[in-house]
Amino acid sequence: MSLEKAPISYDEHGEDVVGLGAYRVLETFTDAAADTDEAIVEDVRRKMRRALQDYPALAHKTVTIGRLDPDEDVLGRARFWNLLVLYPTDRYTSFQTVYHELAHLAIHIRDQRGEDVPPTSEEFCSIFAIARMPPEFLDEDRIAYLGHPSAPQKEWPEICERALEYRDENGVNSHYIQRAREWLGVDE
Ligand SMILES: [Zn+2]
Repeated sequence: MSLEKAPISYDEHGEDVVGLGAYRVLETFTDAAADTDEAIVEDVRRKMRRALQDYPALAHKTVTIGRLDPDEDVLGRARFWNLLVLYPTDRYTSFQTVYHELAHLAIHIRDQRGEDVPPTSEEFCSIFAIARMPPEFLDEDRIAYLGHPSAPQKEWPEICERALEYRDENGVNSHYIQRAREWLGVDE
């Protein structure tokens, strides 16, 4: 699987499609976030705008941003059948979480196109997301579902890219997740 980095284009039915994904923010999100801090809304918008550039599979789609259930103890959620992502409104969301949730949607779209991607694997989703992140946007000391790497943060995207290549070359049962954890130096 190629990473489809810039220029933002992908091949669909033999045609080169160029463009960006769009997003819209539900009022339920905006209202609740504004109660905490209006800057949260602008922060999520900024991160979405930037992250969508790294997801050509979402070109010409519209992603909806909604409010995460405040009682849910997770960083974010994706409801991929509806291209919906849910982020918390009582705190800021990291770039890594924005990329992770968008990765669920992009993987779903690729799966629907018949590509060889596991649509429900959280580990694959994290590897897929980190592989396409510009290193300067990495803003957590851990990677969701993989753990705390000891490898330098700026090397994480390259390592995850290598894990995806390893999966391509050696197959879906190649323990590429285990390889990724080893290369990242995650202590389990
Ligand atoms: Zn996830």
